[in-house]
Amino acid sequence: MSRLNPILAASAQSIEAYQQAITQSTEAVVQWLQQPEMYQGKTVAELRERIALDFNPQGLGNQAAIERAVEFFLKDSLSVHHPQCVAHLHCPSLVVSQAAEVMINATNQSMDSWDQSPSATIIEIKLIEWLRAQVGYQAGDAGVFTSGGTQSNLMGLMLARDAFFARQGHSVQQDGLTGDLRKIKVFCSENAHFSVQKNMALMGLGYQSVTLVKTDEFARMDVNDLAAKVAQAKANGEQILAIVATAGTTDAGAIDPLRAIATLAAEHQIWMHVDAAWGGALLMSEKYRDYLDGLELADSVTLDFHKQFFQTISCGAFLLKEARHYELMRYQAAYLNSEFDEAHGVPNLVSKSLQTTRRFDALKLWMSLEALGQQQYAAIIDHGVTLAQDVAQYVTEQPLLELVMKPQLASVLFRYRPQQLAAQGENAIALFNQQIGDALLESGRANVGVTEHNGVTCLKLTLLNPTVSLDDIKVLLALVDKTAQQLLNA
Ligand SMILES: *Cc1c(COP(=O)(O)O)cnc(C)c1O
Repeated sequence: MSRLNPILAASAQSIEAYQQAITQSTEAVVQWLQQPEMYQGKTVAELRERIALDFNPQGLGNQAAIERAVEFFLKDSLSVHHPQCVAHLHCPSLVVSQAAEVMINATNQSMDSWDQSPSATIIEIKLIEWLRAQVGYQAGDAGVFTSGGTQSNLMGLMLARDAFFARQGHSVQQDGLTGDLRKIKVFCSENAHFSVQKNMALMGLGYQSVTLVKTDEFARMDVNDLAAKVAQAKANGEQILAIVATAGTTDAGAIDPLRAIATLAAEHQIWMHVDAAWGGALLMSEKYRDYLDGLELADSVTLDFHKQFFQTISCGAFLLKEARHYELMRYQAAYLNSEFDEAHGVPNLVSKSLQTTRRFDALKLWMSLEALGQQQYAAIIDHGVTLAQDVAQYVTEQPLLELVMKPQLASVLFRYRPQQLAAQGENAIALFNQQIGDALLESGRANVGVTEHNGVTCLKLTLLNPTVSLDDIKVLLALVDKTAQQLLNA
């Protein structure tokens, strides 16, 4: 029946097919949510063996296709909501974000022109205005929703580059890059996200353009080293496009000293971009908002809502302090953002985005802010930060565990340090911690991060989930201990 009209439309037949497909899918999700295991534990090879496409020329029909998706995808998915799923900056999602997705998907609005997304365009613009106010920017609407931190960072770096060349009377947009490109640099800390490197390579300037600034004992940018490296770069005749500060490094959750960096950037007229993909969540916080002091001084800011704002993937934003810089990337397409439309006050977001066709992800944040209110939003964000402090305290009380660093946001870095291995040196301990992480995932019972801090391999708990308690983490750490003992005895 659904084969007759596979398109979502107004006919009774189409609506029936839609409701059946959605009901079948949500019922499967409800069952999946109740699977006790975090992961069924299949290996890469097992999944390759098991998953086969079935592109039957006659088509299977919606129902069978959904059944197969449940069998081959859903059942072997990672339960991101599971209390022992704490490896990455990968959040469980808000229920209201799921409801928003239903509407985003069904309406299929595209944000690249107002006539493809009338109310959605206005909602996104109003949300950008609101986000700017939270950051402490002047009233305005310079900014846009993005696919996430990587794209937002690219926009910041690209506009910094083009503003830099524009000051010298050169348009990169028109004429491309020019001059001695090896002299062009951006600065970020050694703990900044790798998308800085990737984006600089993409922009034609290569990894070589990224100068890494040292960090202090809390993994924050060392401003003295920054000042020294900037002075050195200038003495070498290098040209500095931007300083990228991080508010919430991916592992340690470190927040660079934003105000001090902004002061230095202003002194040298250097663009300051703040990657607040993670730490930006503290904009909502009551207890920890002051950690972001100085954010308002940045020329551009990355925010990511599919991290500690608990939105479904993807949902991010880019904010630009001065709207005039958007001129650097404007492209007039007669069919999307014509001069005629612009002269008549028709808003267009295509000029503000790297994407053309773009999802209405802003709806998720809008509905979440309305549904939760500031206080409940603050509470679920603060929960993770406070829990990390409690877990760190607990870790220091366990004889075989070693806290690698005091938590700053919602992560805990620690390692297992058995007596038996102490004599064998650091490499043996590093390998052992890696093995613990691997064994836990393979058992399907927990997903714990394995990372490195200052050359020390450690385990990482990223405690975003507001439904997770200290007791859940004690269960997890007991599992770490049991796994470690099994490995030692093997
Ligand atoms: C996650 C993250 C990014 C990348 O964001 P995506 O949304 O994954 O593209 C960038 N910077 C930091 C600090 C992050 O934590």
